[in-house]
Amino acid sequence: MRIDVLTLFPGMFSGPMNESILRRAQEEKIVELHLYDLREFGMGNHRQVDDSPYGGGAGMVMRVDVLVNAIESISKGEQPHRIYLSPRGKRLTQSKVEKLAKKDWLLFVCGHYEGVDQRVVEGGWIDEEISIGDYVLTGGELPAMVLIDAIARQLPGVLGKEESSAEESFSKALDRRCEYPHYTRPEEFRGLGVPDILLSGNHTAIKEWRQAHLE
Ligand code: SAM
Repeated sequence: MRIDVLTLFPGMFSGPMNESILRRAQEEKIVELHLYDLREFGMGNHRQVDDSPYGGGAGMVMRVDVLVNAIESISKGEQPHRIYLSPRGKRLTQSKVEKLAKKDWLLFVCGHYEGVDQRVVEGGWIDEEISIGDYVLTGGELPAMVLIDAIARQLPGVLGKEESSAEESFSKALDRRCEYPHYTRPEEFRGLGVPDILLSGNHTAIKEWRQAHLE
């Protein structure tokens, strides 16, 4: 899968995208990540990307011409599925993650300041707006990384067999419920034990216990 990101802060991605599973996904060419610095599409000597809002008020708004220029220059010919990360968007769910994981090419547009000029959405340059929850973050970079991580876990070959995403919390296999609790060694820690069934070796009983402890 190809994933492109339009951002004012490409440097924010270097940690999370280059460790653990996301790093492996890129090394194995399952995920191909392209970061674009929005500043390069900015206007004039100062590469301005924002301006004050019509109607007045605090803060700055990201300019429609800059954003559209950037989106169009990335999606020449073939078109990615274009997502604007936004608190106004539809709240992210695991089933949305699964649907996005079936796309070949995604483009994430990260807002900043007060957000983007709404005409980017109204004019059809964005396919959908997604929110990662009912709270406000400084920019769309963290939400984009949340989505990239969640989507990459769904791609065949990204997780090892033992870590399959098919039976994780919110998966269809678990009826969109949360997984059962886990325990490992030591068997006792400061007076806290492990449920007897998990130590019993009785696989049928363990399966039943786990099923009963989905939430
Ligand atoms: N003025 C906006 C408001 O009150 O809704 C907040 C803008 S926020 C400071 C800047 C950018 O962060 C947004 O354009 C969006 O890209 C991103 N953002 C903030 N919270 C988000 C959330 N919960 N989900 C997705 N993106 C978010």
